[in-house]
Amino acid sequence: MNVIDDAMNLRAERLLKHEQQRYVQLHPSSADLADTARRHFLYGVPMHWMNDWGTPTPLFVRSARGAHFTCADGIEYTDFCLGDTGAMFGHSPEPVARALERQARQGFTTMLPAVNTPDVGAALSEQFGLPYWQIATTATDANRFVLRWARAVTGRNKVLVFDGCYHGTVDDTLVDVSDGRTVSRASLLGQTVDLGRYTVAVDFNDLAAVERELAGGDIACVLTEPALTNCGMVPPTPGFIEGLRTLTQRYGSLLILDETHTISSGRGGWARQAGIAPDFIVFGKPIAGGLPAAAYGFSEALAQRMEAAKDAAPPGHSGVGTTLSGNMMTLAAMHATLTEVATPTAYEHMLGLAAELEVALNALLARHGLSWCITRIGARLELQFCGTAPTNAREARAAQHDALEHAIHLYLLNRGVLLTPFHNMMLVCPETRPLDIEKLLEVLDGCLTALTTD
Ligand code: PMP
Repeated sequence: MNVIDDAMNLRAERLLKHEQQRYVQLHPSSADLADTARRHFLYGVPMHWMNDWGTPTPLFVRSARGAHFTCADGIEYTDFCLGDTGAMFGHSPEPVARALERQARQGFTTMLPAVNTPDVGAALSEQFGLPYWQIATTATDANRFVLRWARAVTGRNKVLVFDGCYHGTVDDTLVDVSDGRTVSRASLLGQTVDLGRYTVAVDFNDLAAVERELAGGDIACVLTEPALTNCGMVPPTPGFIEGLRTLTQRYGSLLILDETHTISSGRGGWARQAGIAPDFIVFGKPIAGGLPAAAYGFSEALAQRMEAAKDAAPPGHSGVGTTLSGNMMTLAAMHATLTEVATPTAYEHMLGLAAELEVALNALLARHGLSWCITRIGARLELQFCGTAPTNAREARAAQHDALEHAIHLYLLNRGVLLTPFHNMMLVCPETRPLDIEKLLEVLDGCLTALTTD
């Protein structure tokens, strides 16, 4: 059964109500903290969307270590969200904690390059392949800066992205497709600029549509994740990213791969595994062990064009950069993460265990008669309410079901298992153990029983 029939719909809504009550009983301290924090924070949280997890009140965290965290009420959780990839290498990895301790007595930030800068550059190149790098504080910023560079070096205005994309809060990418037109995403607050003016979005996996747009000769770059991971998960069809590489080269556009999430693919990220050389590559979230940090890499040829564009510009603000990016703490954490945490051994463990989880999840779904699909990109797995992986965002959206998703998340959370909110993503980190996988499967088994039987 992949259709969500009326009976399952009803059960999902009933289960959701029941789990909401259970959550309230289990989390009095989180509720108190939310009340107190509301005096000074919007919705009682440091960022407003922390209130959007679908829990009756936000879940406040006391501490996190490895693949686990403890909430304000003292309950321990196995964490498959892992900060939506920020903690993909586990919470507080020991080598990063040690590097931060060391650095903490030797300065945080100076606006000058720290002496370990060459070592960090070498570690980035060793792991991700590209020869040249710049640092940013978030993947959002890295994407924003790369778009600016791409426009500067090509002299073109427009960017091409894919329907359903998310690249952080970069204005140029926050678009939807409506009646075939690219428009500003309806949910954006305070948006004044018509984002469809310089951005065009087409369907993922549709090379013909990409070529139609590139043929106009005004597209500076194509920006995409190797697989869409923020509208459920949409894997590339065989040859799609290779096709983007060929087409961008043919029409003089640049190819930017945002590997903020697909860093889960394997050591070095998706493109390195696939043997594809983009013009720019963006990594964020886990590359400094979960501290705010991002990096973008580029080819030698591009480095020359970037320096030429900068040298030719009038002196003054380039529009690329923030004061704290590349600070001493970040560089120390990044170096420790790249050289001591994101190791071949760590990836071997993550990928092996994630592959086992994929097999076990498929078996579990089959046992419950559910033809839902599991898509895996290395250490990252997505459960979607459709028989086969979607090929574009429209199909991915059609497979979403809010009540069902919320019921599953809350059922699991109430039994000590955390999934990533807003879709059904599970991430395996170097410290995830077979016992953690067993716990997830056992709890999910109970949940699916509740959803499929009266
Ligand atoms: N790129 C991708 C693919 C992302 O999924 C995200 C965030 N989920 C970002 C960029 C932005 O990351 P950040 O919020 O850390 O800036």
